[in-house]
Amino acid sequence: MAKEKVLVITAHPDDVDFSCNGTMALWNKDKEIYYVVCTSGDKGNHLGKTKKEIIKIREEEQKEAADIIGVKNVIFLREPDGELDNTKKFREKIVRLIREIKPDILFAFDPSNNKFDQIYKYHPDHRAVGLAVYDSIYPAIGNRNFFPHHILSEGLEPHEVKEIYFYGTDYPNIWIDITKVIDLKIKALKCHESQIGNRKNFEGFIKERHSNIGKEKKMKYAECFRRLEMPK
Ligand SMILES: [Zn+2]
Repeated sequence: MAKEKVLVITAHPDDVDFSCNGTMALWNKDKEIYYVVCTSGDKGNHLGKTKKEIIKIREEEQKEAADIIGVKNVIFLREPDGELDNTKKFREKIVRLIREIKPDILFAFDPSNNKFDQIYKYHPDHRAVGLAVYDSIYPAIGNRNFFPHHILSEGLEPHEVKEIYFYGTDYPNIWIDITKVIDLKIKALKCHESQIGNRKNFEGFIKERHSNIGKEKKMKYAECFRRLEMPK
């Protein structure tokens, strides 16, 4: 039987490693995993570097991190950092990718978050990607009348996913025990040196964060998601 496919759609290099790389490390033996990174973080604060150089650094960091987790498929869309919008043009790119890769399971930012109680989680790119993925799943990906040229001239077919795991969520309903892979998670995160290079006690911060997530379920370290099953 063909392996199930998992597609993780993120806004920036490092999003996947902060939010769900532990789950990917656990799943990568049985499932085929793809990362799509919509921007290459080109507005990152790198003194004296050009945009092109920043893109190169951040993509390399993400590829290295994916390698540690055992994920071979990393796709960069190179949309402008900080400027993502849930437009028809952007949704078409998401819909095309889903029709090409045909994932069973999708991972995306939770578009239902509305607490605005912390800064990083609510980056406008995170909100835009979450909404664009949600709006692509329904009604577009499975309906041949949306972006019909995918079907008529690009040889793609409509596709439906089975389930969605929203990460960075305020409303989790599933916890994955990542205790076995916490060191791998941290090792992959450390690849994003341009982002976390000078953070003090980074390892302690990550361990505390995932220990807090797991506490309620009596897991030493966990990642949590809001899982939504698509109606059959
Ligand atoms: Zn981000």
